[in-house]
Amino acid sequence: MVDCKDSCGNPGNDSRGKREAEEKLKEITESKALADRMGKIKHKIMILSGKGGVGKSTVAANIAVALAKEGKKVGILDSDFHGPSIPTLFNIEMERPVSDGGSMIPVNSANGIKVMSMGFFLQNPNDAVIWRGPMKMNVIKQLLTEVNWGEIDYLIIDFPPGTGDEPLSVAQLIPGLDGAVIVTTPQDLSLNDVRKCISFCGQVHVPVLGVLENMSGLVCPTCKTIIDVFKKDGGEKMAKEMNVPFLGKIPLEPKIVEASDSGKPFLYHYAETEAAKAFAEAVKPIVTMKEKAIAEPVDIPEVKGDAADFKIAIPVVEGHLSAHFGHCEEFVLFDVDREGKKIIKETRLPAPPHEPGLLPVWLKEKGAHMIIAGGMGSRAQGLFAENGITVVVGAASGNPENLVADYLNGNLQSGDNICDH
Ligand code: ADP
Repeated sequence: MVDCKDSCGNPGNDSRGKREAEEKLKEITESKALADRMGKIKHKIMILSGKGGVGKSTVAANIAVALAKEGKKVGILDSDFHGPSIPTLFNIEMERPVSDGGSMIPVNSANGIKVMSMGFFLQNPNDAVIWRGPMKMNVIKQLLTEVNWGEIDYLIIDFPPGTGDEPLSVAQLIPGLDGAVIVTTPQDLSLNDVRKCISFCGQVHVPVLGVLENMSGLVCPTCKTIIDVFKKDGGEKMAKEMNVPFLGKIPLEPKIVEASDSGKPFLYHYAETEAAKAFAEAVKPIVTMKEKAIAEPVDIPEVKGDAADFKIAIPVVEGHLSAHFGHCEEFVLFDVDREGKKIIKETRLPAPPHEPGLLPVWLKEKGAHMIIAGGMGSRAQGLFAENGITVVVGAASGNPENLVADYLNGNLQSGDNICDH
């Protein structure tokens, strides 16, 4: 067949269409692979800090250790392109992940923690990596898609300091992150940047699990007086002011430096120190986090209606699926082509006043064939059925476009924040 080109020699509609279809197929395959991988991990936690050098990677590594000590299966992803330090903290810098068919197997540390780090891919640890935002996003996507963690309880994700491309990519790529731990030191200069981290979490809808104040005072080895090297209680005050949980304070402890430099995870090797005890106490809310089931695919009822002219309604609050469908701010109505697996049009409709029984009739008038909801009681489901609208119930919170794309690709996952009224 002759490849069709226009008068300027550019690919014509046929080859452009073919390319677009190939790209779409690739995107769909990748997003399914990503959902499959992430669906096998019960908890995903980001470790953030406003500034470098406050102990973020140390905290990330030791949260992983605290969890492993409790018998949890743990993975740690070091997404710091510019200063990956997790391999050093576990003394596995010389190891390399192996590939297994289409996937990569993370390196197993001596403590049974699975580790994947950008550091494994640098020829020389002193190499400077100059990568722009979209390249980082692609590499992070590839790591999330191709690394085979297996079924694990926790994935701890370490980032470079700040709220740049790396945490933004992860927040966009992984639906249902449990939240972020924000590490700071007590002085004002660090705290200003923590406020930015908290506001970033709000913008990307990632819950703040808590602020952890590190390097908080030094116990004098001779007189045992606490010397507040970097001021006092700043992280705690700021957490209160910003209305986020405060996890606790870890003092300055020379053995932490020793442990880090020699690749002996601090919590394993110095469990008797005051700093290790403070650490274990601070990370308790994470270690004892409510057990979340591995996400299951949502049951999709049999759907009637024309595959090429189909409308899906999503109840939304603050840009995300509303768990209380009757109290949402707006509905986003998607015209979709179910066969071509694509969204054709998106219409935002302010929600009508909250009146029992009104929503099914109103959505029928708007032409909806299906509603994807977090939770819904059986009475409401019956009313939708009477109006010819299929109800998909039990979807995990997420942004409406992603939920519809997941539905179209058969990847819709269940959540646990379900309301049935
Ligand atoms: P970040 O990831 O924020 O850049 P790191 O975790 O690499 O910070 O820690 C920076 C340095 O501070 C490391 O040498 C580490 O061993 C040390 N450190 C971290 N927390 C403490 C602490 N509580 N007491 C003493 N040294 C610490």
